[in-house]
Amino acid sequence: MYTEITLRISPEDAVHEEVLKKEVARSVKVDIDRIKHLEIIRRSVDARQRTVFLNLFVGVWIDRVEEREKVFLPAYKDVFDRPRVIVVGAGPGGLFSALRLIERGYCPVVLERGKCVDKRKGDLGRLYKTGIVDEDSNFGYGEGGAGTFSDGKLFTRSQKRGNVRRILEMLVYFGADKNILIDAHPHIGTDKLPGVIVNIRKAIEAHGGQVYFDTRVTDLLIRDNRIEGVIAGNREFLAKHVILATGHSARDTYKMLHNRNVYMEPKDFAVGFRVEHSQFDIDCMQYHTRTGRGEYLPAAEYNFVTNIAGRGVYSFCMCPGGVVVPAATAPGQQVVNGMSASGRNTPWANSALVTSVGEAELAALNHRGLFAGIEFQEALERKAWEEGGGGLHAPAQALTDFLRGKITRHLPRTSYKPGVTTSPIHAWFPALLAERLQQGITYFGRCARGFVTEQAIVLGVETRTSSPLRIVREKERCVHVGIAGLYPCGEGAGYAGGIVSAAMDGEKCAESVF
Ligand SMILES: Cc1cc2nc3c(=O)[nH]c(=O)nc-3n(C[C@H](O)[C@H](O)[C@H](O)COP(=O)(O)OP(=O)(O)OC[C@H]3O[C@@H](n4cnc5c(N)ncnc54)[C@H](O)[C@@H]3O)c2cc1C
Repeated sequence: MYTEITLRISPEDAVHEEVLKKEVARSVKVDIDRIKHLEIIRRSVDARQRTVFLNLFVGVWIDRVEEREKVFLPAYKDVFDRPRVIVVGAGPGGLFSALRLIERGYCPVVLERGKCVDKRKGDLGRLYKTGIVDEDSNFGYGEGGAGTFSDGKLFTRSQKRGNVRRILEMLVYFGADKNILIDAHPHIGTDKLPGVIVNIRKAIEAHGGQVYFDTRVTDLLIRDNRIEGVIAGNREFLAKHVILATGHSARDTYKMLHNRNVYMEPKDFAVGFRVEHSQFDIDCMQYHTRTGRGEYLPAAEYNFVTNIAGRGVYSFCMCPGGVVVPAATAPGQQVVNGMSASGRNTPWANSALVTSVGEAELAALNHRGLFAGIEFQEALERKAWEEGGGGLHAPAQALTDFLRGKITRHLPRTSYKPGVTTSPIHAWFPALLAERLQQGITYFGRCARGFVTEQAIVLGVETRTSSPLRIVREKERCVHVGIAGLYPCGEGAGYAGGIVSAAMDGEKCAESVF
């Protein structure tokens, strides 16, 4: 017999198989010897009370083990001679659209401006060493897109946009740990993600798809409002269908689309900075202890959101046990982001603290028109670059000083390798947004004692939370509203906001072609 139960158990008991089995036997009211197999289906930490528990949803086999449902098994076809579909960008949106095209019997031709994972790693090493950003190979660009050197958090609220479980199972098939199917807040880790991405590319190539690196698309071939292909450098790639998954940082690509009269609209996005605490402080805050998380609990996370004068202020992309990284995609910009390895075991915790920016804020800051959002991002990134002193140094301030409007004299040690320069962020961040962030963070500090501490710092700037533009497409068919055969896809098109939602959108676009 097979049954499923919910169990509330201490983190320590959960890791000891015999204790867990005993608890399960007690819960299903059978003798322990009759439990033949257990499988944790879902796991979450419940830290709402002083004593922290794990909530487990467990599959239990009593007396015998029966055949279980199989996870994802691909049905990839050989597509060497099949009709070609061009996919621009090898981020999660582009790669998952390529896989789905192969399943449907079409041949994806993936064009990526950056390099393969291995070469990209070398470029990131050089970025740290020289402080010079390669415009085609950086934390945002290259095989796997912005998702490769990230935390690999896979939690998404976009359940309605597609089949989240399918994407997670695909990631496991390509090498991610099975725990991502179980954990309520799954993550892969930046040490494991590159391997998964390379396996995806190898599968695409093995079935006849083509992947070109160092291939930046510089123009579209359009005739009578119908796409005929793309131009990359001095080469033409012809196809009747083009999936455009270029991510939210490809500002040159947005400009090229505008020059080709591809219809786009401004959309809201968010800006702010990264806050970094010691992970120990966050563990104490979230697990209500003075001694950290102990042996059995994962590095604690947090998630804050509030509304100030009708606009959101929230934490975003929290990386427990992670590091802050330089995420600019061109020289003269200072942009930060966060990532962590699968073990989440650095002494630091970071997250973005951001607030919404839309037409009203942009107009108040004298930015108008389609590219107002991009211009504002660029201005803020340039200011942060100057404040950091050039290079990759990030302007930083103690969190408490940001709230009080004071200059920070001494900054604590940070995970941000290139280094930080003390800067009065409160003074040069647009007042409208700085005040909102100050109010929001003060509220977070009231909700969670230990969040606002002298040891926490803010580093700037966090401007790439989502795309400031939408490349408008038809709702169901995903085809661009003006150009037949063009499928704007993923985060850069304004239809996703993270790895899983971009992957789901890639699949959706691939299902829309032909
Ligand atoms: C450091 C960091 C950490 C992150 N952590 C997480 C996380 O933990 N969880 C999460 O869900 N999300 C995270 N994100 C965000 C996530 O990576 C993105 O939401 C996701 O990658 C978007 O997928 P995409 O395919 O739409 O675009 P992207 O991943 O941005 O991919 C776009 C690709 O297109 C290429 N490209 C751009 N222009 C052209 C052109 N003209 N020609 C050819 N190629 C082009 C780029 O080089 C890039 O590889 C993180 C991002 C960063 C930078």
